[in-house]
Amino acid sequence: MYDFIIIGSGASGLSAAMYAARLNLKTAVIGEMPGGLITSTHVVENWPGTVSISGPDLGMALFEHATKAGAEFKNEKVLEITKSKDGKIFTVKTASNEYQSKTILFATGTQHRSLDAKGIKEFENKGVSYCALCDGAFYKDKNVCIVGGGDSAAKEAIFLSQVAAKVYIIVRKDLLRAEPRNQELISAASNIEVLYNTEIAEVLGTEDGKKVAKILTKDGREFAVDGIFLAIGHMAQTELAKNLGVELNQKGEIKISRHSETNVPGVYAAGDCADTEFKQAITGSAEGVTAAYYAFKYVQGGANF
Ligand code: NAP
Repeated sequence: MYDFIIIGSGASGLSAAMYAARLNLKTAVIGEMPGGLITSTHVVENWPGTVSISGPDLGMALFEHATKAGAEFKNEKVLEITKSKDGKIFTVKTASNEYQSKTILFATGTQHRSLDAKGIKEFENKGVSYCALCDGAFYKDKNVCIVGGGDSAAKEAIFLSQVAAKVYIIVRKDLLRAEPRNQELISAASNIEVLYNTEIAEVLGTEDGKKVAKILTKDGREFAVDGIFLAIGHMAQTELAKNLGVELNQKGEIKISRHSETNVPGVYAAGDCADTEFKQAITGSAEGVTAAYYAFKYVQGGANF
């Protein structure tokens, strides 16, 4: 019997795990990717106290901190979570195991949103990608485009501009919504061109159909590119929580209180899967840490705060 089981091994889940273990809660983190989404970020420059660190290094540091503090890591995919009739015990089922816990934290993050344009699905993994850090090296001295106008698109573009010959950012509105610092870096990069008020209409491949060759935009232009990176936002992964009776908002995010509680006693949520507007690694970590503290109080007293 665990005191605290965390579903998701990203920054939010691992921060919660470290705190919970230090509070002497018997804690397990179940996740498929130690470090989570931050590990696909090139450089993180907004983690307090650390001027600059690579995403993979930050993810690994959080993982080591959590496991050294005593949290167990299970590299598994959770299939279902159920609760006992009295609501006091949760059963977490994976493909190969079943675990029981007094409390649960959902730190399940998000999944990438895909673009509804002709050819996108067909060329996934043949030039269409969601991760510049993972796939950027394939585009050395080539032309690429990034779709999106948020922080992710900006950061992907900055990273790719150091590898590729030319980087187009395709923004459907007339503005980039990225952090000012990222916008400055984009303006300073001589090989980044931002194309405003446009969207991809179609992706066309090479003659043999094996790779991306160009894009056609909705305003009738054509750009030769070898790679297309999609950074058009994310959707919260909350199916497991929903099936447990956890309340979601209209965007499908888990509604949480200032204590990171959900509507179900003993169930908490933190990070990108929760309904907080400002989504950063550090805010997710703080929500996870908050959840660990209130789970500790809940396990001690059984009360819902
Ligand atoms: P986001 O902020 O939701 O931005 C998504 C972008 O994609 C928006 O510009 C949106 O356009 C555009 N978009 C959505 N659907 C589209 C479509 N069908 N066709 C074309 N464009 C489309 O997502 P994000 O950039 O992944 O960021 C998610 C959160 O993580 C944010 O809170 C962000 O600040 C945070 N984050 C922070 C950092 C950092 O370094 N601080 C880095 C990465 C992410 P519209 O503007 O028209 O809606």
